Amino acid sequence: MGIILCETHGSQGFREVCVHIWNELAKKNFPIMRTLPGYNVKICNKCYQENNVGELQKITFDELLDLPDEEFIKFKEKYSPKYKNLDRRCKCIECIRQIELINTIKNGEDPSFEPFENTLMYKDTKIIEQLREVLTSHFEFPKSQNNYNKSVDAFFMRSGGVSYPFSIKFYYITEKKDQNKLLKLIDGFFETIPQKQRHISFYEFENWITEELEIGIRRYKGEEKLLLENMIK
Ligand SMILES: [Zn+2]
Ligand SMILES: [Zn+2]
Repeated sequence: MGIILCETHGSQGFREVCVHIWNELAKKNFPIMRTLPGYNVKICNKCYQENNVGELQKITFDELLDLPDEEFIKFKEKYSPKYKNLDRRCKCIECIRQIELINTIKNGEDPSFEPFENTLMYKDTKIIEQLREVLTSHFEFPKSQNNYNKSVDAFFMRSGGVSYPFSIKFYYITEKKDQNKLLKLIDGFFETIPQKQRHISFYEFENWITEELEIGIRRYKGEEKLLLENMIK
């Protein structure tokens, strides 16, 4: 699974699609998509039929990982010529959802996800940075305990997509009056802009876990205690 940088949605996962699906998406149409099993590439009916994809068994990525080596070689022999034969393109997952949403609204249907159309996205980075300025100029934030970067304030903003809202996670702000002060600042800021959907959360502390492995060190976050959360839809 790779990551692309989308102009609208920032760093995102992508979906591989056949060139015909890609062309339809470019015209903002949301075509019927079939799947090349194992590779999870979305393909059109024509590609499906021309490559006899119907003769393949469905297999998920996890099942693939569990295959014994000799079975995996058999899988490769059968499935990969069809994969290689496809003219493929990559498309940002949130851009695909955006097109799905436009089309479901047009057809009076529901999308396959809960939509957040009215939220700050990567393309609104300027506004997001203005909000950072408002927060840091009115509040003294504790620093993050992340070893890699201890000079960072312990709050994290993430731009939204079509299927999730803009969010801010605060750490170490445990006093009710401080939480209220920040929520008030944020509410005031959002009064002046149209993209109001947001998810604000306060966590007790960052739970960084360091694990020593033979080949190096792994750092990851364990469970963290949520103190307060504020979702505006
Ligand atoms: Zn196709
Ligand atoms: Zn995108």
